[in-house]
Amino acid sequence: MAEVKGFIDSVYCGSGVDGRGLRCVVFFSGCNLRCPFCHNPETLFKRGQEKTAGELFEYLKRYKPYFKKGGVTLSGGEPFLQKEFLLALAGKLKSEGIHVVAETNGYICDEEILRALDGVIVDVKNQETDDLSPYNKFFEACRNAGCDLTVTNVLVPGKNDSAEKLRALSALIKGEGRVKFLPLRKLCEEKYRELQMRFPYADIREAEEEDVIKAENLLYND
Ligand code: SF4
Repeated sequence: MAEVKGFIDSVYCGSGVDGRGLRCVVFFSGCNLRCPFCHNPETLFKRGQEKTAGELFEYLKRYKPYFKKGGVTLSGGEPFLQKEFLLALAGKLKSEGIHVVAETNGYICDEEILRALDGVIVDVKNQETDDLSPYNKFFEACRNAGCDLTVTNVLVPGKNDSAEKLRALSALIKGEGRVKFLPLRKLCEEKYRELQMRFPYADIREAEEEDVIKAENLLYND
């Protein structure tokens, strides 16, 4: 039977911010959301290199001696959209003893995928909506699957840093540990220009360290 193929935008080896330790990050192509602050607009559409899980595994395996406590992070785009490819790749990596986590928007709730991972990093998208119900479902699935959960949230001044928004976030993550705030950065604007796409948050200021401290105080001390 032909091996399942996936659409991959790129692979970056040497990340220290996408999960524990030093990691190779695989950027899957295609996403089900269109976040106005998206840092990787080049991954929004399902195009890019077509690879089999075996080909990508052979490439990633070469970095194993460098991983130590690190491993491979499946990112994107939205990696959960390419389920069969993700399962095949994660299976091969784990059988080689390589730690595998995925970064996801949490809108695709699939326990089979969660069981195939060592951990998942979910970024809560509450900048343009107050509906956090997809995350309640997703967190429950993580608990059922025994999948280690990390929660992040892109902090956007004027969008999700109000006391009201932070109260709702606090209620959502109760019992799930802490939220890691990622301050809005606009380094991606150049990519939008190259792709001839409009950057929806062009007029919003970047978040500063003080914004993060203020949000953390509101979230944990109120
Ligand atoms: S879910 Fe991630 S990749 Fe998809 S649009 Fe949002 S920020 Fe971009």
